[in-house]
Amino acid sequence: MALITKRVYGSEDVLPKDSYKWQFLEKLMREEAGSFGFKEIRTPVFEHTELFQRGVGDTTDIVQKEMYTFNTKGGTSITLRPEGTAGAARALLEHAIYNDGLPVKAYYFVSCYRYEKKQANRYREFHQFGLEAYGTESPAADAEMICAAQSIFDRLYIGDRLSLELNSIGCPECRAEYYKALKEYFSQHKGDLCDTCLSRLERNPMRILDCKSPVCSEIAKNAPMVLDYICDDCREHFEGVKRLLDASGVKYTVNPKIVRGLDYYTRTVFEFVANGIGAQGTVCGGGRYDGLIEELGGQRMPALGFALGMERLIALLDSSDVQLPIPDTCELYIASMGDKAQEKAFELLKRIRSCGVYAETDIVGRSLRAQMKYADKIGAQFSVVLGDNEIERSRAEIKNMQTGEKREIRLDNGFAEDFLQVKIESGNKSAEYFK
Ligand SMILES: [Zn+2]
Ligand SMILES: [Zn+2]
Repeated sequence: MALITKRVYGSEDVLPKDSYKWQFLEKLMREEAGSFGFKEIRTPVFEHTELFQRGVGDTTDIVQKEMYTFNTKGGTSITLRPEGTAGAARALLEHAIYNDGLPVKAYYFVSCYRYEKKQANRYREFHQFGLEAYGTESPAADAEMICAAQSIFDRLYIGDRLSLELNSIGCPECRAEYYKALKEYFSQHKGDLCDTCLSRLERNPMRILDCKSPVCSEIAKNAPMVLDYICDDCREHFEGVKRLLDASGVKYTVNPKIVRGLDYYTRTVFEFVANGIGAQGTVCGGGRYDGLIEELGGQRMPALGFALGMERLIALLDSSDVQLPIPDTCELYIASMGDKAQEKAFELLKRIRSCGVYAETDIVGRSLRAQMKYADKIGAQFSVVLGDNEIERSRAEIKNMQTGEKREIRLDNGFAEDFLQVKIESGNKSAEYFK
């Protein structure tokens, strides 16, 4: 196939017949985030490359191998965002949003770009929904963050089918001890580690734990566990998170192997994991990154958040028995014959659409017969046919397309009123989701 009609590898189209899923999920997530007091933040799709080098961490796979980086005509190096947090943190600093009061709570929908290896269920352009909170160290913030993710999954009826895996990776102080233990352990396997992990060994040995190479991950299985090394403060923090999750009835498993792939994580890390969707089952991952804002040159400010993969979630829902509500079909189709009737149709449609009714008419120039065929095809619930006779009488028949039942309807100011009456009497229940 010619390149011009083929999408770039790793990108996807959302077709008109499927977009309702995205719209439904986005609406649900906005509502849920809103009910927790999060407000939307929108940041650019590209940022200065340095932001991600600093904010994601230059020992990560993302920064080392996967970023879409290029120079502008002016010679500035910019990068398409590989994740949503760095941009939000940059905006927080640039606009000093923290001066408006703490905590700052924001949610985002972003498209992200990573040059991933070719692999099923891996996209090079993918979409995330995420929450961010800044300016609170309390375990209550961690618990609230996790509760928000949980309640999104609950509303989709998959809350009990995902497992929430929780861990604490400690603070920089207690991690020093842990790094020492990791270095000692991995040094014994130096000969077997991949090149990337060898370079990580000195700078960030924890990254070795989520190396995707089979040899490295086999070695990592017996590596020391971070939970055995965390300090009393971190342990107490972790207990606080668990206590509030228990109080909220959120079930979790402590999984000491979860470390997340980004350098700036501290203390709480968590993942919602599903089994059976592609290479990796993590639908949502997040945690605390108290070091991030400082890393970006700001004052010390604790922070936390999560990101939820939209494509993964939709794949999961598609493979489950959960049915997202299908959007309304056309409520009224007005067929017309002749210019006068067409003008009338446009006039009536303006009235009826202003009442929130989904209504269509012919915009192709079809015969009456073909118009009715189209009305059938789009599943129109009612139809009206306009010709010279109807215009003259200012009355027409409205037909219930399912039952075949016909009624008279006024074509003057009473049109909308009559239609709504017919609709109510037919007992037609249209889904409320998109209203
Ligand atoms: Zn600690
Ligand atoms: Zn490796």
